[in-house]
Amino acid sequence: LLEMKHVGKSFGELEVLKDISMEVEEGEVVAIIGPSGSGKSTLLRCATLLETMDKGVLKYCGEAATDNAEREATHYVSRQQLAQLKNNFGLVFQNFNLFPHYSVLKNVTDAPIHVQKRDRDEVYKEARELLRKVGLAEKENSYPGQLSGGQQQRVAIARALAMNPKMLFFDEPTSALDPEITAGILKVLRELAQEKMTMVIVTHEIAFARKVADRVIFMDSGVIVEQGKPEDVIDNPDNERTKAFLQKLS
Ligand code: ATP
Ligand code: MG
Repeated sequence: LLEMKHVGKSFGELEVLKDISMEVEEGEVVAIIGPSGSGKSTLLRCATLLETMDKGVLKYCGEAATDNAEREATHYVSRQQLAQLKNNFGLVFQNFNLFPHYSVLKNVTDAPIHVQKRDRDEVYKEARELLRKVGLAEKENSYPGQLSGGQQQRVAIARALAMNPKMLFFDEPTSALDPEITAGILKVLRELAQEKMTMVIVTHEIAFARKVADRVIFMDSGVIVEQGKPEDVIDNPDNERTKAFLQKLS
């Protein structure tokens, strides 16, 4: 579904991603862990076209998201193709990024109606189902400012799902939340995993990654140091850097 090959990204002198290659298959749940500043968010931002890569290839469903796979500096495809590519995925951030002046229902329905140009009634019906699914059926007329952090994150998840993406990316979806609220969000993610939603989740929740992820990627200093089954990477890491990182957390 997603393929990144030899991706490189620098901010000025700082090389943030160094020759990153990864693939995500349909139905797979991939957790990305690693120390602060290791390039996890930058990797997600490149994968979701929020950031342009300096080097490498990005493909969705076998189709290149960059105009010339061979060129050193890669540029993205045409605007129209870009919009098409963005239909493949949804994105959920740490700090929710909801529109504060839109109601919950409008936050969820706005892009499907105005960007994807889908049928209004159908979108509203689906949005209400999604809000029920994330436990917010009663809040459709509330505004983000009237909701708790956990509820706002549920809206953000419903909003991403409303676009019918093939996969979802999460960047530390629970790091702004209290532990009890975190548990509720992780439950929503676990349910999505059970429904075989393809997901890439950057997280500090190691126990969650162990339980839910099919594959864990450990990043450090812009490289993928180690990846594999959670029981291998988390319980039995080969690499010293992975060991040191996990030890610090426990
Ligand atoms: P955290 O766990 O703290 O979220 P991270 O692994 O997500 O960390 P990134 O946000 O990808 O790390 O940042 C990697 C490095 O790139 C950091 O040193 C950061 O300062 C730098 N960086 C990220 N975005 C920019 C930017 N827009 N301009 C300059 N430097 C940046
Ligand atoms: Mg980050």
